[in-house]
Amino acid sequence: MADINSSLEIKQLVKAEKEQINSHAFIDTHTHFDAPVFDIDRAQQVQQAYKKGVRHLVLVGYLYQYFERMYDTKQAISQLFSTEFGGQDNDNAHLHTHIALGLHPLYIDQHTEEHLTQLEQLIVERRPLAIGEIGLDTFNHEMKSPDIFAKQKRFFEAQLDLAVRHQLPVMLHIRKAHAEALAILKANVYDAHKLGGIAHSFSGGIQEAKAFVKLGFKLGVTGQITNPNAKKLRRAIVAAVDSYGIECLVIETDCPDMTPIMCQTIDHAHDLSERSSGAKSDNGAIHDRNVPANLPWVLSSLSELLGISHARLVRQLWQNSCDALKVEWSYPINSPE
Ligand SMILES: [Zn+2]
Repeated sequence: MADINSSLEIKQLVKAEKEQINSHAFIDTHTHFDAPVFDIDRAQQVQQAYKKGVRHLVLVGYLYQYFERMYDTKQAISQLFSTEFGGQDNDNAHLHTHIALGLHPLYIDQHTEEHLTQLEQLIVERRPLAIGEIGLDTFNHEMKSPDIFAKQKRFFEAQLDLAVRHQLPVMLHIRKAHAEALAILKANVYDAHKLGGIAHSFSGGIQEAKAFVKLGFKLGVTGQITNPNAKKLRRAIVAAVDSYGIECLVIETDCPDMTPIMCQTIDHAHDLSERSSGAKSDNGAIHDRNVPANLPWVLSSLSELLGISHARLVRQLWQNSCDALKVEWSYPINSPE
């Protein structure tokens, strides 16, 4: 027999939860939403992300040949809001897309000196939001070979110099090369306290987490945090917050990678403990891909891990993202519909 009171309660609960979720606004600080795996339903995914409160999304570069595709994606998203989704002038009625340009360490064999020159030209002409993703990655065995690693270091340093020359924040991609990356950062004139910057998809331990924050970087937290088995990462994030406060964190989806554990259709628990190969796969299975609309799951897990309310954390993360990217985006006062 249906109990009228409990069904009323459930309705109220659902309503309250919806209101709570809908009162949150997010900045997805790191995505590859221009990847072909989103071509099939990008407009739908934009709408989903918007409904979940995502208001700013950063497309992050990795290969010179795809820079133009990022600008095309940005334009396509902006057109969606000026036509299909209402066309209001209201700033809150948009999912704003931004671009970071950079040459990713994992694709080091494909980068040329000419790409560096062309990157600088684009920085001058189009003034991206940031330079990224740049850094060091020795996840694959071949990346450890001395000449390949030397080239990674050279491109990393050259792009840090670009950031200094053009006064832009950087998005770091550092994997299994934290000591070397930190040494380069300490020796370079790039000052994250002044220029901002994010250690994207942070994957190191406690010492590394603290070292990046001490240098002025925010730690980018992905869907990896939703995995209870990601113990090293969870400990590092908690330790960084204990020492430096929640001001040191930002969140990101890194879509189509890093799918939160609750959004996975097959058991990826093991894969998630380490980054997937990093290829922004053109052949990635659509059901396993991460999407910007999944970002609230990162907030939930972080909120639980740190024992901080969603409401407080979400506002602080917004502010932290603005600080890291040196922008002043106002937190939307009105909740999304
Ligand atoms: Zn990335």
